Amino acid sequence: QPSVVFDNVEFGYEPERTILHGLSFEVPAGSHIAIVGPSGAGKSTIARLLFRFYDPQSGRILIDGQDIADVTQLSLRQHIGIVPQDSVLFNDTIGYNIAYGREGAEHDDILAAAKAAAILPFIKRLPDGFDTEVGERGLKLSGGEKQRVAIARTLVKDPPILLLDEATSALDSRTEQDILRTLHRVSEHRTTLAIAHRLSTIADADRILVLEHGRLAESGTHLELLRRR
Ligand code: ADP
Ligand code: ADP
Repeated sequence: QPSVVFDNVEFGYEPERTILHGLSFEVPAGSHIAIVGPSGAGKSTIARLLFRFYDPQSGRILIDGQDIADVTQLSLRQHIGIVPQDSVLFNDTIGYNIAYGREGAEHDDILAAAKAAAILPFIKRLPDGFDTEVGERGLKLSGGEKQRVAIARTLVKDPPILLLDEATSALDSRTEQDILRTLHRVSEHRTTLAIAHRLSTIADADRILVLEHGRLAESGTHLELLRRR
């Protein structure tokens, strides 16, 4: 898996308003980091820069040592799987939704991919498996089921980097813990960035970055952060 490096990244949406102030951090290959911090700190901005929706004014973002300024958005999307807070599902079956982005994939192909990505137990928990209709925007599913489908859709593409953007924060805490257990299992060997609001959701992180006003206020392991309090 690749590493992700932010090297002195300076960014603002508008010229005279800097959002990220020379931000530097590293996510070693295969490790999990959590980015926490108050609303408006710049967490989602980090995600947008990773996909090159915007480019930094200065500094570099490296994936596996390569400056992403030289990489197309399409290629980045193949490398980074994102699970957002509120995924949009198509008014079709679970199978269609999971296969979306894999044109022409047959039922068996999806099943094989799901198996390879270790997310089969996930799908099997749903009443009619792949044939379940999700309804308009996934309305026929519970919030937790919807997120399972969204996670499955991302993981069947087997992305080496996983970006969780408040992936469980819309769920009740019991469903959240349930989904987090699964995420823990499927993300084990992937380079993972988890943007989080609640501290209860980052128990699995190897390192935590605390972002405040676009700067790293603190970073370290759970234990290191606790010892400093
Ligand atoms: P977080 O994810 O930590 O809540 P964001 O990265 O979404 O924070 O936002 C950081 C700052 O950037 C906020 O002050 C927000 O108002 C501003 N911001 C976010 N998106 C835009 C945009 N498209 N244009 C201008 N300012 C924006
Ligand atoms: P176990 O105690 O071994 O996890 P479960 O009945 O809870 O037994 O799970 C059965 C299968 O589902 C196992 O393969 C397990 O890894 C998997 N599994 C467990 N928790 C979850 C979860 N939250 N989401 C999806 N699959 C899960």
